[in-house]
Amino acid sequence: MKNTLQYMGNVLKQWKAYCPKKVHIYIMLMPCVASQCTAYTPFSPEKIMIPHMEKRIQKISREISVRKNRSYPHMSPITRKLYPKLMIPYMKVEHEYDKGFYTNEKCLGCAVCSKVCPTQNITMQGNRPVWHHRCHGCMACVAYCPTKAIPSYEELGTIISKRLCLPEKRKRYHNPFIQATDLMQDRRCIHVKKIEVAK
Ligand code: SF4
Ligand code: SF4
Repeated sequence: MKNTLQYMGNVLKQWKAYCPKKVHIYIMLMPCVASQCTAYTPFSPEKIMIPHMEKRIQKISREISVRKNRSYPHMSPITRKLYPKLMIPYMKVEHEYDKGFYTNEKCLGCAVCSKVCPTQNITMQGNRPVWHHRCHGCMACVAYCPTKAIPSYEELGTIISKRLCLPEKRKRYHNPFIQATDLMQDRRCIHVKKIEVAK
């Protein structure tokens, strides 16, 4: 399952190529309130969207439990044409998204940002987070910081935002039903090569 926009066909095609041949393929799209809130303001009212997502998750759960197969939608000819122009430049610099990140005086040194980061991109040094440029721009560190010590997207003005001319009116957002502890638990399932920290 992968959450994407119009380029979904390509992502899912690549994902399928990595799977062992005999794996059970089940792909279902999951629309959400703000899958890329670094790029635009949340576009769907969460009061409508979150119950809709819950229903979709229940359906996915039921179908997987009976091992139903679902294939993926393919890219349209238009999106295939736009892909190299729009996505390739973004993918080349995506890992640098954190280059504009910093903390202000509100930082408590609690390390929540480090623990929720899915790519293990943040280490704590001298009680402050340090970013190591293997970012995916998920903004979990920004959104889940308990004191909002990492400035929000519009203040950050990251390198990617500038290069891609992303709009100003983006907001700090995360699903209100997902807590930092949920992300920390999820991260235990992700295996990323440990970052070497220079001493
Ligand atoms: S989550 Fe916020 S307060 Fe805690 S260490 Fe990170 S930046 Fe500082
Ligand atoms: S939490 Fe997300 S945005 Fe923050 S450093 Fe990790 S990958 Fe980048």
